[in-house]
Amino acid sequence: MNPAERQRYSRQILFPGIGEAGQESLLRAHAVVAGCGALGSFHAAALARAGVGRLTIIDRDYVEPANLHRQWLFEEADAAEALPKAVAAARRLERINSSVAVRGVVADLTAENAEDLLSGAGVILDGTDNFETRYLINDFAVSRGIPWIYGAAVGSYGITMPVIPGHTACLRCVYPDPPAGPQPTCETAGVLNAIVSAVASLQVADALKILSGHADLVQPRITTIDVWEGGIRQIDGPPPDPDCPTCARREFPYLEESARPPVRMCGRDAMQVREREGPIDLEELRARLEPLGEVRSSEFALRFLIPPYELTVFPDGRAIIKGTSDPGVARSLYARYVG
Ligand SMILES: [Zn+2]
Repeated sequence: MNPAERQRYSRQILFPGIGEAGQESLLRAHAVVAGCGALGSFHAAALARAGVGRLTIIDRDYVEPANLHRQWLFEEADAAEALPKAVAAARRLERINSSVAVRGVVADLTAENAEDLLSGAGVILDGTDNFETRYLINDFAVSRGIPWIYGAAVGSYGITMPVIPGHTACLRCVYPDPPAGPQPTCETAGVLNAIVSAVASLQVADALKILSGHADLVQPRITTIDVWEGGIRQIDGPPPDPDCPTCARREFPYLEESARPPVRMCGRDAMQVREREGPIDLEELRARLEPLGEVRSSEFALRFLIPPYELTVFPDGRAIIKGTSDPGVARSLYARYVG
């Protein structure tokens, strides 16, 4: 550690749980923030400020005005430009702590790219908004022995649980299958920024223990918080299930899935569609769509307005289709305009 680093992180080094050795570990550490919305943008900002040396930020979405009340990293200008969250986050993090190596990845985390995006991480923080991705993270993390911190928040309520493979129960020990039926989302139930920061803070605290060399201090507990009703509860997590398909039988079905059906985006009337493999030439698409409606494009995405719908197409072949929550409508719009 050089004198400038020692000064910058002095108040964190003074904290006995971190100390100089812990700070050295943080400076060498690599954390992945999976999903950079409300929880994830808090994770990313806090870890960058704490001096975690490398951050990989993965997000498939772009910034909108309705994100700004709870997504700490983003500003009005990001929403006006409809910047991808991973791009806006990387720019902001550079201004917060220029010594952190940030990799901003505009993509859906899938079985195909999990190896590239998650391997080598010291910890993975769950900032996702859906169970499919959480089960994928759980499969990957358990298969590689990487700790990850589950977190979720909606309304005024939130939950978090650390998963340390080989020591604690994993997600499938606790929830063998994804929840059936529709779940409350930010779109249907709303969300308060206070619960987001409460849950994300607990996730960051566990991540700091792990990355500073104190994974043994992470308590295998499930914590639930309601910032409106005022309740905070912690219960001991169950021990690892000897019959768990993931951590006991070491079956990893979520790492083998390929194409995904259209998924509803948490927080709004929009679907994500990915009907074709491989990159899309946005310039070529722009030329094709311009005669049909208003097109706006940047190096990061192309937006096509065809009221009442709005298609945002990313170079990796995904599209976010706003104005519908019907998978069939989303798929047919993709087929009609993207091909
Ligand atoms: Zn398990």
